[in-house]
Amino acid sequence: MYEPYPVPKLANEHKKFRYSSLWTFAKQDLRLLAFFIVVGGLIGFGLGYFWIGIGIAFALFFAMQLRSLYLVNDWISNRPYDVPPNLNGIWGALLFNVYRAQRQERIVQSEMVSLIDRTQSSLMALSEAIIMTDDLQQIDWWNPAAEHLFGIQALDRGRNILTIIRQPDFVEYFKNVDQAPDGIKIKLASDDNTYAQIKLTHFGNESCLLVAHDITRMRNLEQMRSDFVDNISHELRTPLTVLSGYIETFKDQEDISPRWKRAFDQMQSQTKRMNALVNDLLLLSRLENDKQIAKNQIIEMPSLMNHLFDDAQAYNTDYGHTLNLDIDSHCELIGSDMELASAFSNLITNAIKYTPKGGTITIGWHDDGEHGYFSVEDTGIGIDPKHLPRLTERFYRVDSARSRATGGTGLGLAIVKHVLMQHGGHLEIESKENQGSTFIAVFPKERLYRLSEA
Ligand code: ADP
Repeated sequence: MYEPYPVPKLANEHKKFRYSSLWTFAKQDLRLLAFFIVVGGLIGFGLGYFWIGIGIAFALFFAMQLRSLYLVNDWISNRPYDVPPNLNGIWGALLFNVYRAQRQERIVQSEMVSLIDRTQSSLMALSEAIIMTDDLQQIDWWNPAAEHLFGIQALDRGRNILTIIRQPDFVEYFKNVDQAPDGIKIKLASDDNTYAQIKLTHFGNESCLLVAHDITRMRNLEQMRSDFVDNISHELRTPLTVLSGYIETFKDQEDISPRWKRAFDQMQSQTKRMNALVNDLLLLSRLENDKQIAKNQIIEMPSLMNHLFDDAQAYNTDYGHTLNLDIDSHCELIGSDMELASAFSNLITNAIKYTPKGGTITIGWHDDGEHGYFSVEDTGIGIDPKHLPRLTERFYRVDSARSRATGGTGLGLAIVKHVLMQHGGHLEIESKENQGSTFIAVFPKERLYRLSEA
């Protein structure tokens, strides 16, 4: 079990030590005063000057108190960390209590200093780069890993962090940390290939903690994987086109025997499947690399929705579902029309595929002023909740045989997720087994465009 670092119970330490009662010590003073009065009174009485004897007794007592006061003041002003002078009475009690409180304070202080030291040395030893900035965005503190990763030097203390990490993505992230709750990945310098994952956290009064680590190796491996898939998909395209062409030609021949016709039909459906797979892989790799995707077109939603609805009806002929279109928003979407149409169409095709014949499918677009919602609701086979978290992974299928039989590539929802991510949106899935599913693509306000804004 996780055991946090044992923080000394500083507050409890104070309870250990009880302050001495002032009355106990005051009694010493009163006894001394009484002694002086009795002695002074007796001597005065003996000499015939009773009141003078009493007066001298008070004066002596007062002089002793003044001396004690002088010693206390001397100790506090000149050597407060030494052992206090040995005094009796209330002055002694006062000194004793002050000294004890002071010692206790010193213990607490040294515990705190050692706690700070331990925290600081563990931060120094971290392989993650740590930088702390104050409320003016100036660099306050950093560890050796930050020196190594960002090249920060002693001279940089007090400099604005944005003059050290100047990448536009970082500047934007620094100004609006909430836009990327998981942090951002940036290339550190244009000349070398170092990448870092950075996460910012605000604390205290507008101070900021930056945690970063080097992800160059991971990124290179990821890039290699992505390039490999990209290249192999491109390489497969040409042979597939040639094969499809020949299969098409042979299949259309009139003198072909039924046995061969069946074989060619199967070949054609398999090459189609491979083609779909290659196309999906290429699209996914393009989305991952964030390349060449214009994301600021204004997409007229009624026209896109009607288009999607017509395509759905064409695809639906074999299934005989009832299709509904429900548009309840005057907002248009800002984004990439090709990618969004492809994502929406994936959701619609899935709904048609995974709904037993004669079901009902409703394609909707609405907004609540804060978000835009593209939804596809079906009355199909539904999904067991345990599959939901992994559904958008590549090639994840609830029922592989069924998915293959319906011509699925297993990449549809991965594509949807990436397209939505590129538009600052996300996918929500509600589903009940054997009752149906609703897939909702949620878009942020910034992606909505009202005609009245024009
Ligand atoms: P596939 O090409 O296999 O359909 P997807 O990525 O589009 O791949 O979907 C992943 C899996 O999610 C599917 O194999 C299917 O099991 C499940 N799924 C997707 N949409 C639905 C739906 N509307 N109803 C039930 N299951 C679905």
